[in-house]
Amino acid sequence: MKIVALAGGVGGAKLAHGLAQVLPPEDLTIIVNTGDDFEHYGLYICPDLDTVCYTLAGIANSETGWGRADESWNAVENLSKLGGPDWFKLGDKDLGTHLERTRRLKEGYSLSQITRDFCKAWGIGHTVLPMSDKPVRTFVETDEGELAFQEYFVHRRCEPRVKGFWFDGVDKAEPVRGAREAIQSADAIVICPSNPWASIDPILRVLSPLLSGEGPGVRSVAVSPIIGGETVKGPAAKMFREMGIEPSALAVANHYRGLVTDFVLDEIDAQLIEGIKGLNMRTHVTNTLMKSHEDRKRLAVDMLNFIGRDV
Ligand code: GDP
Repeated sequence: MKIVALAGGVGGAKLAHGLAQVLPPEDLTIIVNTGDDFEHYGLYICPDLDTVCYTLAGIANSETGWGRADESWNAVENLSKLGGPDWFKLGDKDLGTHLERTRRLKEGYSLSQITRDFCKAWGIGHTVLPMSDKPVRTFVETDEGELAFQEYFVHRRCEPRVKGFWFDGVDKAEPVRGAREAIQSADAIVICPSNPWASIDPILRVLSPLLSGEGPGVRSVAVSPIIGGETVKGPAAKMFREMGIEPSALAVANHYRGLVTDFVLDEIDAQLIEGIKGLNMRTHVTNTLMKSHEDRKRLAVDMLNFIGRDV
């Protein structure tokens, strides 16, 4: 079965890793959000892309959910002593990634080429693509004004109240090369349990020319990042609340209404099934919490079986 997975950072990376454990490289393409990319110390940083790649390569820091395992912090500590901005923690190993990526971008390589080369160096066989080679920047409209995504997410620790989002550059950002072929040959698109507002919406906006078309459209399966009305990690539930929507798997399904044909929700949310079916989606209830590597694989297999039942 051929799958295209759309992923943000933490939640997306975990399911992408599960899928990579069970699907051969030629059957899985992972398209990653780049809306939260930014420049810091003159370096080009791609938080979601790096989280996905580090996770697939088995070198991610599983405690923080971002950055590298066995990291040291010499550079940022020294920079902080000199009075430099230290709110975005970049470990020494991680810095190597950003330095080399920035150098190659300046030499004229595209982000997708660089990602392909890095994946090869890290021993990742599956295809990982940034959603576009053109820059897209997520901005958060808050009660304290408009904030660039990392300013809101890391510097301000998601404290300002969210009123909305916009994605600068999205109209000019064509989908990354390879996305069209991958989507056309896919049996299903999997929307990983990532933040619908900040991680998945930018990807959907960029890929929209490939997703909307004549006919029945592509089969797409979303996994809820909201379990029991809360997020496992991150501000998605807070965002729903601040925008006047009660956070739940049903709210996530409603968010993807018209695009998603199948929805996977957690066992503890089983009572929401009828509501989700009412949105014209097939549903599957299972344990969606991925605490261990085994859990990632189990959820991937479970979901593929669900898709396979009527492919
Ligand atoms: P970010 O860009 O680093 O914030 O990462 P994502 O957008 O990919 O992931 C954040 C979302 O992942 C949050 O809404 C979490 O609730 C969700 N998430 C994290 N771990 C899990 C998990 O084990 N299961 C499910 N269902 N969702 C998860």
